[in-house]
Amino acid sequence: MSLRGGTTFLESVLQTLKRAIELGGYPEEVYEILSRPQRIITVNIPVRMDNGKIQVFTGYRVQHNNALGPYKGGIRFHPEVTLEEDIALATVMTFKNSLNGLPYGGGKGAIAVDPKKLSKKELEELSRGGYARALAPFIGPEVDIPAPDVGTDPQIMAWMVDEYSKISGHNVPGVFTAKPVILWGGNPVREYSTGFGVAVWAREAAKKLWGGGIEGKTVAIQGFGNVGYWGGAYWLEKMGAKVVAVTDSKGGVYNPNGLKLADVKAVKDKTGTVMNYDASGTRKITNDEVLELPVDILVPAALENVIHRGGNANNIKAKLIVEGANGPTTADAEKTLHSKGVWILPDLAANAGGVVMSYLEWVENLQWYFWDEEETRNRLERILLDTFNRVMNRWSKLGTSQVTIREAAYVEAVDRIYNAMKVRGGWI
Ligand code: NAD
Repeated sequence: MSLRGGTTFLESVLQTLKRAIELGGYPEEVYEILSRPQRIITVNIPVRMDNGKIQVFTGYRVQHNNALGPYKGGIRFHPEVTLEEDIALATVMTFKNSLNGLPYGGGKGAIAVDPKKLSKKELEELSRGGYARALAPFIGPEVDIPAPDVGTDPQIMAWMVDEYSKISGHNVPGVFTAKPVILWGGNPVREYSTGFGVAVWAREAAKKLWGGGIEGKTVAIQGFGNVGYWGGAYWLEKMGAKVVAVTDSKGGVYNPNGLKLADVKAVKDKTGTVMNYDASGTRKITNDEVLELPVDILVPAALENVIHRGGNANNIKAKLIVEGANGPTTADAEKTLHSKGVWILPDLAANAGGVVMSYLEWVENLQWYFWDEEETRNRLERILLDTFNRVMNRWSKLGTSQVTIREAAYVEAVDRIYNAMKVRGGWI
């Protein structure tokens, strides 16, 4: 179970929820309702392995709350998943979807498996025969809409949407999102949507924090995968920032005058790590050093709990931290950094570009009408900007020195769910 400053991830999420309910002045019953999921489904999935033997995998789908619309959230394939972690992730999805104004509740699924240890045939059977078939009675475009998460990808979504469509007797594209580009509304924006959202949040926050904006601001990025590359290398640079450091799991490179990102990406693609990038003025750094560099903006885009009070929070020099990863900052570290005036743009806001893109894909699927790349990106950006403005207004109303941006985002998220439950009646 992942720990954030000594507490489990679920405890930490519930603490923030409790604080948001106090800050927003909502009735205590709201906590009673939102601190536990509406439904937990456990499935045991037999798969005929390549060696001819049956292996049974345990999977979950946690359906946390659907006051605002169908449950929505990814499916994780990871050997260490637990039900408690799945509940925490589903709970966060309820707040992330609400915060971004989406017509969704929150859900999350998981199977305890290391997908890298399965053959393609075993993985397909687990995804298709197991998860999609076992959960078919509980999901659907207006019920619960899964998507990829750690260990799952568009290919797995394609197998699942195919299986669900076969069970239904007709194509049902809107039951899974983040499908491969060839299928129903596939769009190049999909690949960079989360990173684009990270960059938009950084750009807007920079305007407020420094007046002049993001041009020339120095950036360090931990993680050079989907979020780190598209958020940092591509969009932040395109918006005028100067990316000076990037790392991957092996370590990274730093050049105070700025990296040639296209070259770094080419080296990563060719050799598997950015560590092999070698240019004058560039030196190697570790994954601890990247967090403490003298930069304006820090983008943790790899793992959780990397910024923690025990070690590095006091050494961080960036004034703006943009959480590309989920949960990179421990609760204690956040307190320390907030008291020093550092702005932390929280994960449920800063990395929501992916789920907002999933919403656009789902809308396209429901109407069988598809937008081009520019139209899709403009719609994505409009939704992200609306969220940004609402969070900043809420933060300033609550008091920027007493309340963190994460707490303000939670209040904003709870507000919509509370009002939906109240006006629907029968909930609260
Ligand atoms: P990815 O697998 O594409 O990339 C992860 C990167 O982190 C890789 O470059 C890897 O080398 C690096 N990495 C691994 N271990 C590391 C370590 N010990 N130190 C530094 N770097 C390390 O993953 P991703 O999709 O970019 O996801 C990154 C984070 O963003 C995760 O926390 C994920 O939950 C979160 N996130 C992703 C999306 C999305 O759409 N992909 C959406 C929301 C949140």
